[in-house]
Amino acid sequence: KGKELIDIHTGIDSTLVMMQYKLRKGNIEVVEEFDNHLPKVMALVGELNQVWTNLIDNAVDAMEVNGRGRLTIRTEKDHSYAKISIIDDGPGIPEEIKSSIFDPFFTTKGIGKGTGLGLDVVNRIVVGQHHGSVKVNSVPGKTEFIVCLPIGG
Ligand code: ADP
Ligand code: MG
Repeated sequence: KGKELIDIHTGIDSTLVMMQYKLRKGNIEVVEEFDNHLPKVMALVGELNQVWTNLIDNAVDAMEVNGRGRLTIRTEKDHSYAKISIIDDGPGIPEEIKSSIFDPFFTTKGIGKGTGLGLDVVNRIVVGQHHGSVKVNSVPGKTEFIVCLPIGG
């Protein structure tokens, strides 16, 4: 199946529905800050949903240590890009591992818990298949993954 003109918000919402059990179990409050005028993007539906799944999955895992958390998903138009930020209030990414998190098989989770492939897949889909970008900002108490997808493909 090829690229289609996609409403980003619909994909994020259906991902949240699919993950509702994990979100509830983690005591996660979801805050959507959606730009109602965000243009559609030419994208692969299933692949993009995999991106939201992997990023939200990591955010929820990170907040687990607090027994609760707030997941903020923000969208905005940034020049010719749709910018999607996935923000958690978990502990943050330790400085010494920041350069490794996108490496395939890099994980800090226990055996059987993490494959270390989540962010590698995100990178392949966003950069490789959609000519977008993925950036991360993390300080203790806040981590933000920012995905930019070109409007119009
Ligand atoms: P996995 O989830 O299987 O460990 P990923 O590629 O999805 O593999 O993530 C790699 C590592 O990046 C995680 O093990 C974790 O240490 C770190 N990480 C990713 N997202 C976050 C986040 N939101 N907060 C803190 N650490 C994170
Ligand atoms: Mg992961």
